[in-house]
Amino acid sequence: MKYAKISTLSELPSVDQLLNTEGLRLPIAQYGRHAVTQAIRHVLSEIRKNFHKKNKTINIELIILRVLSDLENRFTPSLKKVFNLTGTVLHTNLGRAALPKQAINEVVSVAAGATNLEFDITTGRRGERESHVEHLLTELTGAEAATIVNNNAAAVLVILNTFALGKKVPVSRGELVEIGGSFRIPDIMTRAGAILVEVGTTNRTHLHDFANVTNRSTGMIMKVHTSNYTIEGFTSSVPEEKLADLCHQNEIPFAIDLGSGSIIDFTYLGLPNEQTPKEALATGADIVAFSGDKLLGGPQSGIIVGSKQAIEKIRNNPMKRALRPDKMTIAALASVLRLYKQPETLIQNVPCLRILSRKSEEIFRQGKSLIEPIRNWVGNPYLISLVQCKSQIGSGAMPTAHLPSAAAAIKPSANIKNKGRSLKNIAERFRALPIPVIGRIENGLFLLDFRCLEDSKTFISQLEHKQ
Ligand SMILES: *Cc1c(COP(=O)(O)O)cnc(C)c1O
Repeated sequence: MKYAKISTLSELPSVDQLLNTEGLRLPIAQYGRHAVTQAIRHVLSEIRKNFHKKNKTINIELIILRVLSDLENRFTPSLKKVFNLTGTVLHTNLGRAALPKQAINEVVSVAAGATNLEFDITTGRRGERESHVEHLLTELTGAEAATIVNNNAAAVLVILNTFALGKKVPVSRGELVEIGGSFRIPDIMTRAGAILVEVGTTNRTHLHDFANVTNRSTGMIMKVHTSNYTIEGFTSSVPEEKLADLCHQNEIPFAIDLGSGSIIDFTYLGLPNEQTPKEALATGADIVAFSGDKLLGGPQSGIIVGSKQAIEKIRNNPMKRALRPDKMTIAALASVLRLYKQPETLIQNVPCLRILSRKSEEIFRQGKSLIEPIRNWVGNPYLISLVQCKSQIGSGAMPTAHLPSAAAAIKPSANIKNKGRSLKNIAERFRALPIPVIGRIENGLFLLDFRCLEDSKTFISQLEHKQ
């Protein structure tokens, strides 16, 4: 059937007319009349707005197609799975750590219905939501007590607010960090109601710098792990043991924000040593905070471990109630922490550890089987080869550590004029796949780093269907 061209606004069909067209009968059955009406209204108003701008032909058939695509957009989740081939394992913009299968299963099971989140099954009385993770955290870190909030930024916020509301907090100038995503230590201090006192210089801070400003108006001292950069050369910082002593002489707590927080020793994966929460506590720190979804490999959460007294104070802060995690986070975190009790199988079970420990030869081998499908899908005018590259941990963890890896390097062929545009085009085509593939552009190449690719099969299968 040929549809008449609509050439004036008055010829546009009404919402009712469209609702009664044959082409929208099935969509109404699928999405309901309400949603279809909304989509029609939206499409018609867009057409009216742009009617005189474009000379495009409009007819009923096109309107219906646009309503269908509008409906599809409305009902497709915007948050979805992607392939992280950026080479950054814990990529904050791509959701950081992938959860272990065991954790996913436990999340699904508690999400579906009632749980004993705050209910003691033995006594039949009210229970504590943190009881499901606290014993696991104290066992793994050696701390007396532990509490959790929604992320490490929240942990830092609640710690400062608990111990330094209206009080001074000296921080070394070398640690006034921005973690990205607008988490800046000075800003968070202000919002927590603490008064930041900068001490020392960017590269050197001494104990007397802290001692000079520590008095009755000081709430606490906090050491912030400079996780996304390193200061090298003529540097000096105060040993944590000394800061802890200074705090205890002044009867105030000493806190360490570890940032990434690896519970295990990473040197045996060939990575630089990170201070573990246990080591941080052993320096005399009263409170140690770290992220749940960085090197730990769990769900987004902020973990605070420390002395019974300090943790109790944090728990009693009303702000803590506003920052408490939900049952799905608790289920996932408890599950991941339980995996840490089995060191023999830990690396295999926790995706982020498994991925970080992959050897470059193995990634290279995997890459070999992927180059041909990629070449076929990409087509001309690009040149594709398998190259060595370097992955990084991400999320600010061990910023100077680079992990040898392998990538498909896609390069516009020599006769292409605008190479920059052409690289952006290929990146865009990969992002437009049903499961978007995210790579990185580096030195005139579009790189797909295979370190984080565990599901080669799905990756290839979506390249086999030509767009
Ligand atoms: C990442 C990080 C934070 C913020 O942690 P989130 O879990 O992202 O909220 C705070 N401090 C340091 C040192 C960090 O590295």
